[in-house]
Order: sequence, then C-alpha cells, then structure tokens
Amino acid sequence: MPLSLRDQVAIVTGASSGIGLGVAKALAEAGASVVVNYHSQPEPAEALVKQISEAGGQALAVKADVSVEADVDALFEACRKRFTSVDIVVANSGVQKDHPFVDMPLDDWRRVLDINLTGQFITAQRAVREFIRRGPRPVSKALGKLILMSSVHDLIPWAGHVNYAASKGGIQMMMKSLAQEVAPQRIRVNAIAPGAIKTPINRAAWDTPAALEKLLKLIPYGRIGEPDDIGKAAVWLASDESDYVTGTTLYVDGGMTLYPEFADNG
Ligand code: NAD
Repeated sequence: MPLSLRDQVAIVTGASSGIGLGVAKALAEAGASVVVNYHSQPEPAEALVKQISEAGGQALAVKADVSVEADVDALFEACRKRFTSVDIVVANSGVQKDHPFVDMPLDDWRRVLDINLTGQFITAQRAVREFIRRGPRPVSKALGKLILMSSVHDLIPWAGHVNYAASKGGIQMMMKSLAQEVAPQRIRVNAIAPGAIKTPINRAAWDTPAALEKLLKLIPYGRIGEPDDIGKAAVWLASDESDYVTGTTLYVDGGMTLYPEFADNG
C-alpha cells in the first residue's frame, strides 16, 4: 500500500532541481501539498507546480535564499497564507565550492557553511517554531517532521572539499542535538545522507563514461542513484510508518559507506 501523506503540507528547499525536485515530486505523489522553494530559477519550479497541479495535487513555488532569515520567514509566511500551516519540512538546499585546502578562499568557505549549515539551521528553526505555534493536527502522530539533507561526507572525509564535508559533519550533530531537544514535543528530526545521486551538483562525476566508471568503483550496488531514490526515503521518513524514528541519519548510498576498497581484504 503506498504511504499516504494526504492532507499534509510540505516545504522543500532547493526544489527546482536534482534531489529537492525529486523529493517534492515524491511527497506530492504521496498526497502532500508542496511548497517548492527555489533560489534563482523560477522556470523549473513553476513547471513542477504545474505538473503537480495537473496530476490533481496542490503546489506553490516560492523564491527564497535559505541563508537569509527574512527570506525564510517569507517562505513560511507564503506557506501559511496558502496552506494554513506545514507538517513536513525538508531542508535540502546545498552547494559545493571546491578548492584544495591551501587555496580555499575564505568567501567560499563561508558561503558553503552559510547555505549548507546555517541555511538548514534557519529553515529548521522556523519549522520547529511553526510546529509548536500550530499544535497537533489529526493528520499525523508527530507534531511535525523535519528532514535535513546531509551526505555520505558527514562520515567519509573528502580531500579538496573541506568546506562541504565540514558543513555536512555539522548537520550530523545539529540534527541529533535538535532531535534530542524537541522529541518531548513529538517533533521528529532525521537526516538523509545520499551517496552519489545523478544531479547537476556532481555532473563532472557522471557525464563521461570514464568518470562514471571511476565513480562506480565506489558504489558496491553498481549503479548511480536517482533523485527518486531519495524521494522515496523522504516519503517514508515523513510518514507515520517511521513514527518511532528520530535522531537518525538514513544513508541512501548503494553501499558507498561500506568501504568497498576493503572488499578484497584491503
Ligand atoms: P542541485 O545543485 O541540483 O540542488 C541544489 C539546490 O539548492 C538547487 O535547487 C539550488 O537552487 C539550491 N540552492 C543553492 N543555494 C541556495 C540558497 N542560497 N537558497 C536556497 N536554495 C539554494 O544538487 P543536488 O544534488 O540536488 O543537492 C541537493 C542536496 O543534496 C544538497 O544539500 C547536497 O549537498 C545534497 N547531496 C547531494 C548528493 C549528490 O550526489 N547529488 C550527495 C549527497 C548530498
């Protein structure tokens, strides 16, 4: 039986491409009304809204920079205005600005931390405030569900990407500490840690046969992930089927965190 998120409302940040788009689509297919946040590209966000509406669902595209508090306030306000409140928040926006450590400009260190970690903090804080303000609803056992988009690089060190790995390592402890803090209010906080998913952020890792072959050596399951793989995990974490799950990172990575280099005895 498909998991139902009927009569629930979701906000997904960074939903105009890649994983965010896949998550927004999957939540809508499960019956949730979805606020599709975008940063700079209205066209794909509006196209997704149209697609969801034509399939009988409800959606709204809203522009916001997740690193700016006033923008995130306006995002939640737009959601309240159209859908009254929100039950599921997926803090997904993230960027990479890669450099060898010795050449890493401070601006690129700060920008990645600002969007990937502080952006998720601001989004998570507004979500928790809204869940508490609104109080319980009969649509779900939890007061609210918060999902942070982490990465296998909250665990696997990543040379040349120190800013990105630091931001995802930060999400791990932010998620767990917040989950501990708000569990008594029946707010569930979890993270999804994708492995290699085919999206614009990592195009160079899959768009030539040579790059893909190299990448597949890191994935025991033998295929690159698709945004829909993450969408399905998000639907489960947002549903009452995972009602006893909080403070957990769900690795959706085809086994990338199984240290495949050691499969032949190291
Ligand atoms: P993507 O580039 O397609 O998506 C990133 C999204 O974030 C875009 O929609 C972009 O507009 C949005 N964004 C960037 N800056 C923003 C800002 N200031 N405010 C609001 N939105 C902003 O890449 P993706 O792979 O879909 O990445 C989504 C998330 O998944 C990121 O957090 C990324 O770190 C994580 N992730 C991706 C992979 C992968 O293999 N693709 C693996 C692990 C984790």
